[in-house]
Amino acid sequence: MPMSNSFSSLFLGRFKPYYLYRLLKWKFGSRAPLGVGLKVTNRCPMGCRHCAWYKPDDPELSTKVWMSLIDEARRRGCIFALFEGGEPTMRDDLQILIDHANSRGMITELFTNGWNPLDVYEPDVFWISVDGLNEMHDRMRTKGSFHRLMENVDKLNKRKVISWTTINRDNVDSLEEICAFLSDRVTGMMFNFFYPYCGVDDLSLSKEERVLTGQKLLGLKSGGYRILNSDAFLERLDEDYTVYPWMGLTISSTGHLHHGCPIEQIQESYDCSECYMVCCREPALAYGLNIKSLNVIIDITCSENGLLWFKPCIDD
Ligand code: SF4
Ligand code: SF4
Repeated sequence: MPMSNSFSSLFLGRFKPYYLYRLLKWKFGSRAPLGVGLKVTNRCPMGCRHCAWYKPDDPELSTKVWMSLIDEARRRGCIFALFEGGEPTMRDDLQILIDHANSRGMITELFTNGWNPLDVYEPDVFWISVDGLNEMHDRMRTKGSFHRLMENVDKLNKRKVISWTTINRDNVDSLEEICAFLSDRVTGMMFNFFYPYCGVDDLSLSKEERVLTGQKLLGLKSGGYRILNSDAFLERLDEDYTVYPWMGLTISSTGHLHHGCPIEQIQESYDCSECYMVCCREPALAYGLNIKSLNVIIDITCSENGLLWFKPCIDD
C-alpha cells in the first residue's frame, strides 16, 4: 500500500470516482453516513484501564440479526464496515459477518487487540491496537498481551495490517521506539489522541503537549516512518475546526443504531474542542477538501484487494 501525499498522484494514479460522487452528494446536502462501527460484542479477554466499552454481561444478537443490521447500514449509505467491540474475535460467527458485509460491497475492517488468532479472518484491513512496546502495552492492557498480539500479527500478510496507537501520558515519550519496532511488521501506523472520558481523564495530553507531539510525528514521518496521519491533521492539533459527526453510524452490541458522535453512546455530553480522535478529524479534513487528508483516506481504505470502485456500490 504505497503512500503518497502529492496532488498529482490523487488525480492521476489514485482517483476513485466513487469518493468524488459521495463528496458531491454531501456537498449538495446529503447526510448519509460513510462508515458503520459494528460493536458486535462487548465481551473482551482484556481489562484495559481506559476501556469505556467492556460490558461482558450484555446480551448478544444472533448472526441473522447482525446480517440485517449490516444491510440496514448499507442501505443508509455506509460503505465501510468496521468490526469492533469489545473484542470482535470473541464471536464465533465473525468471518460470516465479514463475508456478509463484503457481499454487500462494503470495505471490511477488523479492529482487534490480537489476543485471539487472526489468520482465520479475511477482512480487507486489520487494525491492531498497540499502546506501546512490551510492558508498556501490557500495563495498559493485560499481562502477556503484547507478546500474543505480535505472535498473531506476524502470521498475517503485513500489507493488510495497520497499527492504531492511542497517544496518552504513558506512551507519549516512546513514539519513536514504537515506530521503529512496528515499521517492519505493518504497512502503516496511525496515531490517535486519547479522549478524556469521564473517570479516565488522567491519560490525555494538554493542548501544548498535543501540538508538540504532532511536530514530533511530523519529524518521524519525514524521517521515513510510514505514519498514515496526514500532515494536515498533525499540523492542526491546536485548531478546533469543524467536524462532521453525521459521517459515522454506530451499532451497539444490543442493536441500537446511533448516527453521530460515538462518544454520545457512553456519556451524555462530548466536547469536540478536546477531541482529536483521528477517526473523526481526518475525515473532517477530507470533507473540507484537504488534499493531503483525502489522499490518506483513499490510501487506507482502497486496500490492494478492495479497490473501492470495483465494489458494487449501487444503491446509494
Ligand atoms: S481491548 Fe479494547 S474492548 Fe478490550 S478491554 Fe481493552 S479497550 Fe476494552
Ligand atoms: S471530534 Fe470527537 S467529540 Fe467531536 S464529534 Fe468527533 S468523535 Fe465526537
